[in-house]
Amino acid sequence: MQMTVEPIPNVSERINEIRRLTARIVSREILPNESMLWRMQSGEKVSPADIEAAGEVRSHIKETVRQAGLWAPHLPEEYGGAGLDFLELAYMNEILAYGMAAALFGVVAPNSGNQSILVKYGTDEQKEKWLLPLIDGRMESGFSMTEPDQAGSDPRSLKTTARRDGDEWVINGHKWFTSNGLRADFFIVMCRTEDVDGPADANAKMTQIIVPRDTPGVHILRGINVWGRDSDHCEIRYEDVRVPLDNQLGRTGSGHQAAQDRLGAGRIYHCMNSIGQMWRAFDLMVERMMVREVHGGLLETKQFMQGFIAESYMDIQAARLMTINCAEKMAAGLDARTDISSIKVFVPAAYERVVDRAIQVWGAAGVTGDLPLAAMYQGARTLRLADGPDEVHRILIAKNVLSRYHAGEGWDFAS
Ligand SMILES: Cc1cc2nc3c(=O)[nH]c(=O)nc-3n(C[C@H](O)[C@H](O)[C@H](O)COP(=O)(O)OP(=O)(O)OC[C@H]3O[C@@H](n4cnc5c(N)ncnc54)[C@H](O)[C@@H]3O)c2cc1C
Repeated sequence: MQMTVEPIPNVSERINEIRRLTARIVSREILPNESMLWRMQSGEKVSPADIEAAGEVRSHIKETVRQAGLWAPHLPEEYGGAGLDFLELAYMNEILAYGMAAALFGVVAPNSGNQSILVKYGTDEQKEKWLLPLIDGRMESGFSMTEPDQAGSDPRSLKTTARRDGDEWVINGHKWFTSNGLRADFFIVMCRTEDVDGPADANAKMTQIIVPRDTPGVHILRGINVWGRDSDHCEIRYEDVRVPLDNQLGRTGSGHQAAQDRLGAGRIYHCMNSIGQMWRAFDLMVERMMVREVHGGLLETKQFMQGFIAESYMDIQAARLMTINCAEKMAAGLDARTDISSIKVFVPAAYERVVDRAIQVWGAAGVTGDLPLAAMYQGARTLRLADGPDEVHRILIAKNVLSRYHAGEGWDFAS
């Protein structure tokens, strides 16, 4: 089935053009080759000939993406990207996610997030040394913030320290869930840089420091088993790791702000990704209902199943409109913090419900690696705790609402 994408009224022509071009590549080049492209990731055994054939298809798709001017949409044109603005990228993300196509468009986490941080905070030398090789694929990277012994949902509690010694930082700490850790050539490590023994609540202590993987004292302990499978989310010990002061990203103490920059816009993109995947799960679900016969009739004729269509339609529309409303507020420079927290709670939960129904409709096939649904289900569940767990965002929503009411105001839902 092809992805159905019509022009949206009330958005720029450029957004519609980006959606149309992206959907065309997804529908014509990616979906027909999907099982070949992603077979390796499902853990299935594949022959060398299959690997070679998939490599050729991938190269061809990447070339098509470049010719369409859509390569690396998150990067400015001066760095070889498509130079999309925030809203253009948000709208593009749902289409990319429908086809699980981000990597084929040059967007590979955590490299893409690290690229954006290096563009914003890196010095000319850092850009030359780390950003350019990361962009043209000569290097891989990881973002090393979460620690096993401190709450990741309270990043200011992290204990990894960076002590200044002459013209070097000396880093000590224990991290885990550093994604892409097995392949990374360098890590951006979140450290506590000053007043190590002081109170733990000051944002101004956090600094991000670039650590090359082959620096003495960087110990990759393991790729953590996630959802029953080996992964490259790594546990890492940093033991007296010495790097030049020049490896610091931004000014001392800017690490928390840099992480917020990464996460704020990132939450919109994650939510648009979830919406694209819900959309795909919805298409798969409806398609199956139209052909599968049970107990003397097609699934589509059963009212339980019709209920699944209606509930999923409402989940997707509500999630999508909330996210777009939030993105538009951010693009207009308005305070969207309550909306960001709202979508971060609502969208992954809606995503989980939509995929759950699609799996139910497909029966046993729904939990196999033959369909993307099982991976989506795990992704949706994981999103409820990554990038700020549900509870933290619920607390933020309530705090923002209560502060208005305590100030004698109400909440204007239209603003
Ligand atoms: C697949 C995957 C990839 C990841 N990739 C990276 C990466 O590349 N780099 C990186 O640095 N990190 C990464 N992470 C880590 C992720 O960001 C953290 O797991 C997340 O921030 C939550 O932190 P935690 O696991 O320490 O949970 P904790 O902070 O220990 O929280 C546990 C639970 O406590 C509850 N809770 C928390 N605060 C409150 C509160 N105030 N009130 C009530 N309940 C509360 C919530 O239910 C929460 O889920 C990844 C995680 C996963 C699963």
